[in-house]
Amino acid sequence: MMYDVIIIGAGPAGMTAGIYAKRANLKTLMIEKAAPGGKMISTWEVENYTGLGKVSGFEISDKMYRHTQEIGVEYAYGDVSEILDGDVKTVKTVDGETYETKTVIIASGTIPRKLGAEGEDRLTSKGVSWCAICDGVFFKDKHVLVVGGGNSAIEEAVYLTSLNVRVTILNILDDLQADKKAIEQADKTGMIDYLLGHEVVSFNGEERLESVTVKDRHSEDVKTLDVAGAFIFIGHIPETTFAKRLGMTDEHGFIETNANMETARDGIYAVGDVIVKDIRQIVTAASDGAIAAQNAAKYIERRK
Ligand SMILES: Cc1cc2nc3c(=O)[nH]c(=O)nc-3n(C[C@H](O)[C@H](O)[C@H](O)COP(=O)(O)OP(=O)(O)OC[C@H]3O[C@@H](n4cnc5c(N)ncnc54)[C@H](O)[C@@H]3O)c2cc1C
Repeated sequence: MMYDVIIIGAGPAGMTAGIYAKRANLKTLMIEKAAPGGKMISTWEVENYTGLGKVSGFEISDKMYRHTQEIGVEYAYGDVSEILDGDVKTVKTVDGETYETKTVIIASGTIPRKLGAEGEDRLTSKGVSWCAICDGVFFKDKHVLVVGGGNSAIEEAVYLTSLNVRVTILNILDDLQADKKAIEQADKTGMIDYLLGHEVVSFNGEERLESVTVKDRHSEDVKTLDVAGAFIFIGHIPETTFAKRLGMTDEHGFIETNANMETARDGIYAVGDVIVKDIRQIVTAASDGAIAAQNAAKYIERRK
């Protein structure tokens, strides 16, 4: 079966592309390797998506996914491993499925960056986490470390305090990159303190995380914090291994596009967090998706 468009990833970028593609009458398949929603699903609350006010990450994911299903976007589970370019493009998945399509929209987003500190891999899911909404509840009435100084780190720390978790925020820089409003919200909780200009040396513990050793970047003093958990929010890396061979990524693996969301390859578009851009948000991901789908439709029309 030949699709008009295959969308890789069902985050806000991919789902919006799906809605616009169906409205342009394209035969559309969206392939997702996890659950629809992308990073929204592990976000506690979203307060800045136009018209929705304050909404949980789960709710906005569910609403967008239902919208794609109501409009008729086909959905398949699959971990895309390769795209073969040509007049007809072939999308392959890890478990051997093969799909043919006239155009592809890559909406595979990013995954959280690791610190690379000792003990981090061994204690992942045993006290070290990248998702406060998934794991925060295990630390009720306890003390955790949040690593990072941007909006994600501060907002997730505030969420943890709502579960009665006491938080120390550690940032490698001497200040925070988060915006003023987020910092004010954190201060209001009275349950957050800061360790700025510090880095993590190691996550310690046998079966579970018991403590974290940290170093002052100026004095080089080392100390150990007795925390039950550690949450890491230090940025993201793009999910583009399957696109590497197509020669469309920059040195960090982000996909380069123009304002039409076109990549270096005809008929292959990229949208959302996975592309080179300044503002990685739900609303900008959705906008990219709409633009890509419209341009995919024009591309197909031109080649008729
Ligand atoms: C903690 C946190 C809080 C945030 N809070 C907000 C907020 O309040 N407001 C806001 O606007 N933004 C927020 N963001 C940013 C927002 O979540 C992202 O900008 C947005 O989700 C990007 O959407 P996307 O569709 O490009 O990618 P993603 O949401 O990353 O979705 C990509 C999807 O592609 C799938 N995928 C990846 N590789 C493959 C593959 N090989 N095969 C098949 N599927 C694949 C993934 O499983 C995923 O579901 C937050 C982010 C984080 C981490």
